[in-house]
Amino acid sequence: MRKVMSNMNWMILALLAVTMTAVAQQSASAPQNPQPVAVTPTEPTAAQPSQAQPGPAQANLAPPTTMDQVVDRVVLREKELIKFLAPRTPIVETYLQNLTQDPQLGPVPQDDHYFLGRMDLSQSIDRSDYLQDKGKDEGMEKHLLGEFTKKFKFQYQPLGFSWMIFVDRNDFDRQHYDFHYARREFLGDVRCLIFDLTPKKDAGRGRFLGRIWVEDQDFSIVRLNGTYARPTRNSYYFHMDSWRLNLIPGYWVPSYIYSEEGDFTAGAKNKIAFKAQTRMWGYNLKTGTAADELTNIRVDSVKDDTPTAQDATPLAAEREWQQQAEDNVVERLERAGLLAPEGDVDKILQTVVNNLEITNNIELPRPVRTRVLTTSPLETFSVGNTIVVSRGLIDVLPDEGSLAMVLSHELAHIVLGHNLGSQYAFNDRMLFSDEATYQNLGFKHIPEEETAADKKAIEMLKASPYAQKLETAGLFIKALQARAPQLSALLQAHLGNNITENGTVTRMAQLGTSAPALDWNKLDQIAALPLGGRVKLNPWDDKVEIVKAQPVAITSARDKMPFEVTPFFPRLSRYSAAGAPTATTAAAPTTTTAPATTTTAANADSSATN
Ligand SMILES: [Zn+2]
Repeated sequence: MRKVMSNMNWMILALLAVTMTAVAQQSASAPQNPQPVAVTPTEPTAAQPSQAQPGPAQANLAPPTTMDQVVDRVVLREKELIKFLAPRTPIVETYLQNLTQDPQLGPVPQDDHYFLGRMDLSQSIDRSDYLQDKGKDEGMEKHLLGEFTKKFKFQYQPLGFSWMIFVDRNDFDRQHYDFHYARREFLGDVRCLIFDLTPKKDAGRGRFLGRIWVEDQDFSIVRLNGTYARPTRNSYYFHMDSWRLNLIPGYWVPSYIYSEEGDFTAGAKNKIAFKAQTRMWGYNLKTGTAADELTNIRVDSVKDDTPTAQDATPLAAEREWQQQAEDNVVERLERAGLLAPEGDVDKILQTVVNNLEITNNIELPRPVRTRVLTTSPLETFSVGNTIVVSRGLIDVLPDEGSLAMVLSHELAHIVLGHNLGSQYAFNDRMLFSDEATYQNLGFKHIPEEETAADKKAIEMLKASPYAQKLETAGLFIKALQARAPQLSALLQAHLGNNITENGTVTRMAQLGTSAPALDWNKLDQIAALPLGGRVKLNPWDDKVEIVKAQPVAITSARDKMPFEVTPFFPRLSRYSAAGAPTATTAAAPTTTTAPATTTTAANADSSATN
């Protein structure tokens, strides 16, 4: 059978490290290039009606003929984007790993930080956090641009990581910046003009310094790469590489930002070394105002499809009640932007669950459903008959067997009747702000139930088609154990049980003991993948899909990067009505639903890890 997901495909993206632009080489006082440059006017294509493509103010503008006119258009487009996004409050997630030098593996995580919030783009750029005991210095934080301060060691400003969604929120114009045209370049399918930007001498602090990529039809910025100019004595601005996606007609939406600092050359004294991924999504979520909450109260979510009006038996009522709680939770999480809408990834997870159920003769009154949590921390939980797995956890799992391991634990909870969350059948419990989700919902089992679920899960795995594939699952546990002490933020579950306790893997730990020795130098031993390689989250509508990319060979132990963050390198393409860039076309490898065939290909499966 084919694998659930293609392995390591996207590795090349990480290797194509983003080259920082040599802005310093440009003379800051070089005059604007006034000569006419051949900017090809874009020919309207038949397939894409012109009214669907450009932004509102764009349609009646003549194509620019000089670079100065192009710059004016870029500035106009950026202002239109800022206006367009002003009423939106997307979710912003930053996951950061501080690095230390490992003689063999290079820079590896030393510890980590996680920030999750919602951005308010209306006046300035602001954010409110989902996580408690964060954002204590909220008032001060608002005024800091993408910087971290030295005052108390290094204090990261979560807001700073999202600052580079725009070049300059307030003063992106020719009065504050010099634009130097560099050249053309394709980013994915999109032809771009590249400009190097330097702030004017008297433009003040916190001005963008770096390079922008502008697509050559509407002149929207699609990528920004650089930093902010003139750090103060007690603070630095960090470097960022910021990407936008054309997810809706006429606008390129800020989606990913990669940040990295640190110098690992011999003799370098790192004051700070980290890499961080910032993701934005939930642009199309409703703003969670109190009024909005009230209009969304569900008066009655139970469909009465039995016209005979018979009362439910006690057991039927109990199940109905649990179903109601489950529906409430799923709906509420989706509304908060924390759960992806049902989609193709669920079908893959569902197939693995089915394989486990069929081979174990599990028959439940209601089918088990699966959903993807949109966040990075590695966690799972179940509510009623819905199993939820985080995007980050699916990313790092090396193969289908390890996915089966993860799902089997939650399936075991369901089979054993470890029902949590029936209190959420009361609708008043759904009335909280999105940012308070983690304080209002929780699905943690007591330790006894965790142990029982592990035991039952291993039983089920051993009777399943995955019985022959548990070595890699065990290696995953070992890799997790090796990295757990450094990755406490990534391993902090926010809704379910932690996979580790105090730096030790507790979940399914038994599988680790029977696995082969973990060997980072063995290039064909892939125990865990970096973050971001499998699941692609659409920032506009929160849909998730499996990444389709060609496999890239691992050539050194440093290529493995288990659980690590890497730069982003999305393949850019223009929006098309037929299928947005993240359209859920069914090109992702799928699993077979016939468990009998999965056992026969166990060997082929384990060799396909390059
Ligand atoms: Zn559990």
